[in-house]
Amino acid sequence: MPELPEVQTILDALAPLILDREIHSATVLWPPVVDRPEQTLFIAWMQGRRVVDVRRRGKYMLFRLDDARWLLMHLRMTGKVRVTDAAAPLRPHDRLIFHLNDGREWRFEDQRKFGRVYLVESPDEVIGKLGPEPLSDAFDADYLTHKLARRTAPIKSLLLDQRIVAGIGNIYADESLFRARIHPLRPGGSLTQEEIAMLVEAVKAVLAQALAEMGTTLQDYRRPDGSVGAFQNSLQVFRRTGEPCPSCGAPIRRIVVGGRSTHFCPREQR
Ligand SMILES: [Zn+2]
Repeated sequence: MPELPEVQTILDALAPLILDREIHSATVLWPPVVDRPEQTLFIAWMQGRRVVDVRRRGKYMLFRLDDARWLLMHLRMTGKVRVTDAAAPLRPHDRLIFHLNDGREWRFEDQRKFGRVYLVESPDEVIGKLGPEPLSDAFDADYLTHKLARRTAPIKSLLLDQRIVAGIGNIYADESLFRARIHPLRPGGSLTQEEIAMLVEAVKAVLAQALAEMGTTLQDYRRPDGSVGAFQNSLQVFRRTGEPCPSCGAPIRRIVVGGRSTHFCPREQR
């Protein structure tokens, strides 16, 4: 599933291909891809629109349109976007097409069909409950201390809670906890001030490095031009079960936390 670094990388590549192009029509190939409004209205409202600004919030891509509405897109597990010549053949999992006025098409492809688009007056209708951006100043030790106080859920699960902090998924939660040397099953409320400060620093460092390396490609994630990210070469624990910890040599362990595969160093993460 694309997380913050992957979504930002995709958006950076997509933006110059779609900004200020007119969307002369939309074709919905699989109706449930449109979360709201209903399909007929969605098609009518998209007709003739231009994207005048692009932003990211958590794992959402936000496109501000020239009529002041917003198109939001969430890729979920396997969603992909690409801009292609209109004559290029469709792929089996294409779900939505925006026909651009420059002879190209902005296509949304999604094998697992969890990805969604939303067309709304205000982004807050969809993303109003998201926590702060992890790379912003609003995500600091004081904030996280407040959010973790008295929480008994595992810190791994709390890092994945988009209402606490937006944009972290399974890969960067595991990598951040390893970097901060915190056991993924520790109850959130049990972390010390020092550990929380280290965790905030770790989250920011891991995400910044992943952004610089254009994300992690394990299976599905591709940049819109089809190229892959590089952070998979920097993973310390994620999907390295049984391999030696890069720091101490102990075999990396895998457990399941809140239904999610979780990887950690059993010797150093306490
Ligand atoms: Zn270790």
